[in-house]
Amino acid sequence: MSEREKNIVMFPFMAQGHIIPFLALARHILHTCNSTTTSTTYTITFVTTPLNAHIITSSLPPNSNIRLLQIPFSGSDHGLPPHVENTDSLPYHLLHKFLRASLCLKPSFSKLLSDLISQQHGRPPLCIIADVFFGWCADIARHYGVFNAIFCGGGGFGFACYHSLWLNLPHRNTDSHHIMIPDFPEASTIHVTQMSDLLRAADGHDTFSMFNREVLSAWSKADAILFNTLEVLDRTGLKYFRRKLGRPVWAVGPVNLSIDNQAHAEKEGGNVSDMCTQWLDRKPAKSVVYVSFGSQNTISTSQMIELAIALEASCKNFVWVVNPPAEFDTNSEFRAKEWLPHGFEERIKESNRGLLAHKWAPQLDILSHEAVSVFLSHCGWNSVMEALGHGVPILGWPLAAEQFYNAKLLEEEVGVCVEVARGKSIVRHEDLAAKIELVMNGTEKGTEMTRKACEVREMIKNAMKDEDGLKGSSVKAMHEFLSAATLMTAPSRSGPNN
Ligand code: UDP
Repeated sequence: MSEREKNIVMFPFMAQGHIIPFLALARHILHTCNSTTTSTTYTITFVTTPLNAHIITSSLPPNSNIRLLQIPFSGSDHGLPPHVENTDSLPYHLLHKFLRASLCLKPSFSKLLSDLISQQHGRPPLCIIADVFFGWCADIARHYGVFNAIFCGGGGFGFACYHSLWLNLPHRNTDSHHIMIPDFPEASTIHVTQMSDLLRAADGHDTFSMFNREVLSAWSKADAILFNTLEVLDRTGLKYFRRKLGRPVWAVGPVNLSIDNQAHAEKEGGNVSDMCTQWLDRKPAKSVVYVSFGSQNTISTSQMIELAIALEASCKNFVWVVNPPAEFDTNSEFRAKEWLPHGFEERIKESNRGLLAHKWAPQLDILSHEAVSVFLSHCGWNSVMEALGHGVPILGWPLAAEQFYNAKLLEEEVGVCVEVARGKSIVRHEDLAAKIELVMNGTEKGTEMTRKACEVREMIKNAMKDEDGLKGSSVKAMHEFLSAATLMTAPSRSGPNN
């Protein structure tokens, strides 16, 4: 590594919803920093397990300045199915076990960093950017004198609620249905149905509470926190973390919508992408509902059937990413007969009203297509940013973790979402169809949601602007973070500190 090279080590949790924004952050940093006139070259060392490294390699262009380093992980040592290295084929009920298993990466990460520094003749990397679940990297980084940050691919508000609720157990009820969110005057209470089963059952002594206490408390040891959000949209949550952690909190996103990342998504393309785009090309503008519950979550068979009836009854076009319902194995082949109403697949094929994508669809391509009117989403933060970045309002169906609080922010504060269902609640097709029509049939509410989503699209464009010397708030924040890392990586700080 030359004196002019600055290496950043990135270490995401092993799940698509984490790896995707980390890779987007990597590309965004390289694009914005290496294309300026300075003589410094930034490089990224991306740390992940062998299977994930293999998957990522195929999406990296040659000479991309992103180098992959592998860290060993054996799922079966932790009672997980053999060869599990990410959440792609992991049944949802094993997610917390997988998360706890990730704690075993500590010694290997420490060794990897030590080897990396030796290879660079004792020069430490500029900084380590670790996942929200890898806050423990702060201790290792400090040991080697390396500046370290946590990158949260989620939003400020959603994670603030999550952080506060998990770190303040047992919960305090205000009545039989409402829970206090401590340290959070602006949001104050949530309904009990806005808590995942794990959070509702948590008493502070169960294994997942202990895991969360360990990883979330570690945030206060990091030198900085980065959020994949923009300041103007997410002030309440960002304020919570600034006040709570007393360290720099920078909103640098949404990085998956930076110009270079959109270009990358277009190049990724492939057959499924072509098929979806060609299907959408034949539909009128603003006539399609896009339905997806992200990369990890799914709904139950009965909910799936109600949703199918609602989509059919609403007479709207739709693209639906169908995952095996919760009662089935994550790796099940598509089983229309068991998951969908009788004759549904045949009818929608014949009428050409719907496109069913099995397990995965090119989401950015779909959301950027003018035929799409609304996104029925689980409100994972990447999905939220991708929808709003294209001016698409949201029908929210949060299923887990901080998705409930993302939906709350979007509906109550931003006005771009209407919640259609929550978690495992019983859903009725009549209610789902009514909400789809509310947004798509030109009602006052639907028109207002679309107008606001377009307003947020402009906010996002402004935040990510980087042209003719004009930098948006998120780009400026990223430069501030890199300057802080450069200042802090003074020679006195480097070298093992025992
Ligand atoms: N995604 C996709 N196609 C799919 C499902 C998901 O491209 O069929 C991408 C999506 O664009 C987003 C990420 O996977 O970038 C999902 O992240 P999110 O935070 O929305 O949800 P998670 O999967 O973490 O629950």
